[in-house]
Amino acid sequence: MNDRNEALAADRADPLAALREQFTLAAGTIYLDGNSLGVPPSASAARAQAVIGAEWGEGLIRSWNSAGWFAMPKRLGNKLAKLIGAADDEVVVTDTISINLFKALSAALRMQNARDPKRRVIVSERSNFPSDLYIAQGLIEQLDRGYELRLVDDASELRAAIREDVAVAMITHVNYRTGEMHDMRALTEHIHAQGALALWDLAHSAGAVPVDLNGANADYAVGCTYKYLNGGPGSPGFVWVPRRHQDAFSQPLSGWWGHKSPFEMNPVYRPDNGIGRYLCGTQPIVSMALVECGLDVFLQTDMQAIRRKSLALTDFFIELVETRCKEYGLTLVTPREHTQRGSHVSFEHPHGYEVMQALIARGVIGDYREPHVLRFGFTPLYLRYVDVWDAVETLRDVLATESWRKPEFAERGAVT
Ligand SMILES: *Cc1c(COP(=O)(O)O)cnc(C)c1O
Repeated sequence: MNDRNEALAADRADPLAALREQFTLAAGTIYLDGNSLGVPPSASAARAQAVIGAEWGEGLIRSWNSAGWFAMPKRLGNKLAKLIGAADDEVVVTDTISINLFKALSAALRMQNARDPKRRVIVSERSNFPSDLYIAQGLIEQLDRGYELRLVDDASELRAAIREDVAVAMITHVNYRTGEMHDMRALTEHIHAQGALALWDLAHSAGAVPVDLNGANADYAVGCTYKYLNGGPGSPGFVWVPRRHQDAFSQPLSGWWGHKSPFEMNPVYRPDNGIGRYLCGTQPIVSMALVECGLDVFLQTDMQAIRRKSLALTDFFIELVETRCKEYGLTLVTPREHTQRGSHVSFEHPHGYEVMQALIARGVIGDYREPHVLRFGFTPLYLRYVDVWDAVETLRDVLATESWRKPEFAERGAVT
């Protein structure tokens, strides 16, 4: 595509184009940050009204049963399962990634300890999202049994680091910074061949790329709903545990929602059968209800169609940046190979932070990640080819005029 008209023609031919109408999009904004916080589905506002008005306001306490509040984590889990290659009753929507990771990693370590107590290493990547590493560090300290976190500096060192002393490989499928994606099936196979368990973080995968957890024979997975799944700021995450592992061990956050019969009010904890034992306490129902609005849009299409458009959008973006912004010092850090990248694209620039602030001031919203990375997320449900064209033209203008040099663009907020 060499001009704006061709981008418009691609939009007219786009089989997913109509789904854009199911989202509320800010006027005058090109949003390339749906990988960090998705946009609101149009149904969300009315759903929030209904939960607050009819269900909470009128139904009151009865709504735990009559409005299905209590069943929501499992019911939404079954909808989400379809996007990640999971079966019914293998996913619950609940808590945050960090909390779910604590539960899943604890369960995985216990399971390994019963099989082979000599294994004391958790493997991950230094470039993993820090919260994942912090949770592993916190759990290791809490267990106080000589566990160790082994971090590799480059994805190419991962396989060699997973050897006979490893209990669990805790891997993020798509890297939050570079967009690099692992081959889940091949890596899980290697992890199993070394006798370890595979725990996957799907933060930048769920709703972004096709995932087949059962096909890959993975052991545990966690993810969130506020990024590509459009659940809203701070909406609850999810945890996946395949049936074969569900009843093997319970997780340590043994709150009453994970009890076999919570309203017996029994002083002794007995875990629920199945995935229910991965719940802990009372859930944020207003926020969780909105997760369903996002999932319901996804269920009108499929992840293969979304992936086709995602690759077309990202290919188009890379090509345009590399031709139209060639002389301005941007370096692609995302792999070009389709099989090795997710749905966001990152470029390094020595003044990445300032350039991104200047872009945002012009209505093109991406984000910045240390060090030097301009990150652009591509969400096929509501992005058009013409948005890609216009975003790159704005980027070119910001770089060509050096408007990013204005002092206000160097100021930093608490969230970048
Ligand atoms: C976004 C993200 C998180 C965020 O964790 P929360 O507990 O939901 O705040 C964790 N891990 C990865 C890999 C992420 O991309």
